[in-house]
Amino acid sequence: MIEVVLSVGTVDLLEKPTDWVWDGGRPSIDFVNTLRRKRIAPVDTIDGVEALHKWLITSGILKSSTDREPVVAAAIALRHSLDHLFEQRLEFEDISRINTWAALRPTEALTADLKIIDSVPTVSMKNALGFIAYDAMLIVKEGLLNRVRECGSHDCGLKFLDQSRGGNRQWCSMRRCGNRAKVSRHRASL
Ligand SMILES: [Zn+2]
Repeated sequence: MIEVVLSVGTVDLLEKPTDWVWDGGRPSIDFVNTLRRKRIAPVDTIDGVEALHKWLITSGILKSSTDREPVVAAAIALRHSLDHLFEQRLEFEDISRINTWAALRPTEALTADLKIIDSVPTVSMKNALGFIAYDAMLIVKEGLLNRVRECGSHDCGLKFLDQSRGGNRQWCSMRRCGNRAKVSRHRASL
């Protein structure tokens, strides 16, 4: 029992609700997950252009040398629409917003010395958001929308792409909520 309780302490030390998590399985899902604890006490980890810029760089979507752009409000609106998409409750404005952003996605380019320049990491925050919107569209195109699930823990709210063979993944991560559930089951059995 001591070992199990200690592991809860470790998880708490490892992560705060203000931290970013990368368990979504796709960039667009990780982006939606920047709003933490959505069901009980929402914590928005994108609280300004610095945070958005840093998140995009940390995710590998944006080049670190890129300028800041005033796109935070638009990014938050896109995140809201992507959340609606993943919950399959799209409204008209969500559809047009996702389409508009996806059209701004970066494209590969041919150079004079016959090379193809990769489109990611992108060189503008708008391109990066376009990449995220298009990633969500690809989830639909690949027939995976029904595999986007929300963590089974009542206070978590994180989403993930369930890539388990049986399609029965329950937790955003075993290390986080899976472990918490294990501990509370263990306590209940005492
Ligand atoms: Zn969770």
